[in-house]
Amino acid sequence: MEVILLMGPPGAGKGTQGDKLARARRLHKLSTGDMLRHHVREQTDLGKQAKQLMDAGDLVPDELIVDMVEATVDELAEVRVLLDGFPRTTAQAEALDALLARHQASLTAAVLLDVAQEQLIARLLKRAQDEGRSDDNETTIRNRMNVYNEQTKPLVDYYDGHNVLRRVDGEGSIEEVFARISGVLP
Ligand code: AMP
Repeated sequence: MEVILLMGPPGAGKGTQGDKLARARRLHKLSTGDMLRHHVREQTDLGKQAKQLMDAGDLVPDELIVDMVEATVDELAEVRVLLDGFPRTTAQAEALDALLARHQASLTAAVLLDVAQEQLIARLLKRAQDEGRSDDNETTIRNRMNVYNEQTKPLVDYYDGHNVLRRVDGEGSIEEVFARISGVLP
């Protein structure tokens, strides 16, 4: 049983590092952002409810996110999960604790990728050019930073209080950051 959570502001490298880590440790990567983008593409009810919020850089309501995550985790025979972009609020973190308790699982580590704010904006603007994500424009990026600072950052203290927080310097090459992450995991 292994549950690793990747935390950090938008542009910190959660997606890239999450892919590598999931492959290396044979974890099922669960990215709520990727799942939501899939729903938007498929124009499901959830996708229709989420699209405007995502385009504005606002969070999708907790109940919708928690239902979506629970449906996926319940499908997993063995709990080996890497969480990317979830939880993002205290309510989601509490729902995750309850979900893990139901599976007799606990969090292995919450890895926080630390990157300076100017670096983040530069990375996101570059990603906008490379990938064309509809929420990677400057106005939305600034809102996503604010949303992170106000709603998600409190989780750093939450996980520190649970003694599972591992801070990692997220600046440097993909390989350097990956080595640091691997170094803080059991
Ligand atoms: P991401 O790819 O993780 O940056 O997520 C893209 C967008 O999807 C976010 O800006 C939110 O609008 C939405 N989203 C993803 N994960 C969550 C979550 N755990 N809670 C609420 N909204 C989310």
